[in-house]
Amino acid sequence: MPYRARFGRKMECVSLPPLSNFAICGGTHGNELTGVYILREMQKHNVEKVGSVSITTVLSNPRAVDACRRYTDRDLNRCFTDDLLSSPITESTPYELRRAQELNAHLGPKGSEEAVDLLCDMHNTTSNMGLCIIFNSADWLILHICKYLQSKITSMPVRALQMDLPLSEAFSVDSLGKHGFSFEIGPQPHGVLRADVFNTMKEAVDLTIEWLQQFNSGRTFEGGEVEAYTRWKTVHYPRDPTTDEITAAIHPQLQDNDFKLLQPGDPIFLSLSGETVKHEGDALYPVFVNECAYYEQKIAYHLTQKSTLTLPSINVKKD
Ligand SMILES: [Zn+2]
Repeated sequence: MPYRARFGRKMECVSLPPLSNFAICGGTHGNELTGVYILREMQKHNVEKVGSVSITTVLSNPRAVDACRRYTDRDLNRCFTDDLLSSPITESTPYELRRAQELNAHLGPKGSEEAVDLLCDMHNTTSNMGLCIIFNSADWLILHICKYLQSKITSMPVRALQMDLPLSEAFSVDSLGKHGFSFEIGPQPHGVLRADVFNTMKEAVDLTIEWLQQFNSGRTFEGGEVEAYTRWKTVHYPRDPTTDEITAAIHPQLQDNDFKLLQPGDPIFLSLSGETVKHEGDALYPVFVNECAYYEQKIAYHLTQKSTLTLPSINVKKD
C-alpha cells in the first residue's frame, strides 16, 4: 500500500514541525450549510488567532453558497489535482476551476513549503455517516487528531476514511495544506441546517484547535491504534439499458446502515417493480449510502475495507 508513513510495528516517538497556520474552509459545496454557518460565526467573532495557532477562515465557493447549490459550473472539490491546478485559464474556464487556482495561490501552493500547515474543510452528507474524517493518504498527524476526537466526542460516532490517493491525484481542497482532511457529517439534507449536526461540527473544530495548541506547546501524544476505512470500490444504481434511468432504490435494509459490514447475499437494492438485488463478492463496509449529490453520477454508495493502523507517539520538533 502506498502509505506515506509505515505502519504495523511499534515505533519510537516521531517529532514533527510546529503547526502555526490552520486554514478552515466551508461552503466548498454551496448547499452544505453547517460549514457555511460555522465560518460566519467564526468571522463574526474575529477568530484569527487562538494561542499559538493563526486561523484563516475561507468560504471556498461563494457563488455556489449564494445560489445554495453544490456548484455552479463544476464540482469545486474535484478541481485540485496537479493537472487541473496547472491548466491554463481561458475565457471558457469554468468558475470553479478559476476559484481552485485562486485558493491554491492563497492556501498553497499545493505541495510547497508556503502551504498552510493544516487545512480542514467542512462538508455534510445526506448519508448516515456520523462524523467522518476523510483524508487522502495516511498521515500520523491526522490520525492522531482522529484519535483525539474519538476520545472526546460522544454525540456521534467518529470514524476515519482514507481515500488512498497520491498527492498529485488528490482532488479535494484539503490537499492544498501540508496536512489536510475533511469533516463529513450527516445525515443532513443539503440546503438545511440541523442543530445537532452544527453542534458536533463546532465541537470537532474547537477540539482540533485545542489539539493543535497542545501539540505546539510540547505535549507528547501517545501512540496506539486507530481503525480506518479505505475506499475500495464504487457501486452504481441499476439502470435501464435503453434510457440509462435508475431502476431501483437503496434497499431499506441498507438505508442508513453506513459502516455496517455488508455480507454476500445481503440486500442492497429494491427495484421499482419490487425485486431485491443482493450484494455479491467480498464482505465490505458501505459508506455514502444514498448520498443526494451522487445521483448525477448514478453512484449508490462506496465500499471500503476496514483496517487497524498502528501509530507512533508524536510531539513537536524543537530547534
Ligand atoms: Zn461536500
